[in-house]
Amino acid sequence: MTTVEGHRPGGALGSFADPSAAPATWIWRDGALVPWREATVHVTSVGHASVAAVFEGIKAYRAVDGDRLLVFRLDDHLERLYESARLCRTVIPFPPDELRTAVLETLRANGYRDDTYVRPWAFPRGLIREQMVPAGVECEVVIDTWPFTSHLFRERACRAGVSTWTRPGDSQLPARVKAFSNYHNGRLAVMEARVNGHDWPVLLNDRGQVSEGAGACIALVRRGTVVTPSLTSALLAGITRSTVLDLLRDLGVPVEEREVDRTELALADEVFFVGTGWEVLPVGTIDGLVVGDGGTGPVTARLERAYADTVRGVLPARPGWLTEVPR
Ligand code: PMP
Repeated sequence: MTTVEGHRPGGALGSFADPSAAPATWIWRDGALVPWREATVHVTSVGHASVAAVFEGIKAYRAVDGDRLLVFRLDDHLERLYESARLCRTVIPFPPDELRTAVLETLRANGYRDDTYVRPWAFPRGLIREQMVPAGVECEVVIDTWPFTSHLFRERACRAGVSTWTRPGDSQLPARVKAFSNYHNGRLAVMEARVNGHDWPVLLNDRGQVSEGAGACIALVRRGTVVTPSLTSALLAGITRSTVLDLLRDLGVPVEEREVDRTELALADEVFFVGTGWEVLPVGTIDGLVVGDGGTGPVTARLERAYADTVRGVLPARPGWLTEVPR
């Protein structure tokens, strides 16, 4: 049983990564591994100095049976990367197969044996003076990696608060695009949450209904049914969200994807966040109202177990879910 008390959120702006971890030795850049220190860009590079970069956050887990590293849902993450680039009208000049190999090669070259975060990242080539609006241009692609400790079973239930910042709608700044520019909205919400004594914000959408957290999707449990905002509620189409919906169905738990009112969170028996970095994170309070008994509820606990067993290869994986990093 986890409790609200003593919860320690991650870094100042909400990362669960260990800020003291050394950088990787190798970074993949446009077709080759280069030493991390040499993977620099010019300050006037348009992708960096403006807002046009898209990215993915992927996790590789140490398998239960030794020191194999298993990348979780690699192809699904890469598919979303190409979708984000398409919606930003930029072109990733590598076929998915090549990026897939590059992710595995970067993990192998860095010699990781434990849980690792992988960030493929694409930004338009060129300098600002050449192209301020980089529509249709090719991207540079980099793949960065760093150690990333799982908090499953260790994290205490967190305190969440509904933010006064809202998710922009699909016709404003589409949350479906995983672009760095979208994260300014989440940053504001995380900082506000911390000032107000919460760990994490819950963002409502432009229609006043629940969308997601700053870096994770959200779900509630009410009378045995798991309810999560539909994909048209202004949220990122989370891969963990899709994973846990499948796992819940396997566990025989009814699930609903629909619009969710803010007040449903306060009346829920359980609330939890789900995301690649956040994994399954129970919520103990919403705006100071205790959810359930303030700890990890029974459905969340079963889901957390199933998720951990899935990503570490204890449970049989669905096709394409686990990709082993070659030695
Ligand atoms: N929403 C936002 C805003 C996110 O940044 C993330 C993390 N990528 C998620 C949801 C969860 O998505 P996923 O499960 O694919 O990591």
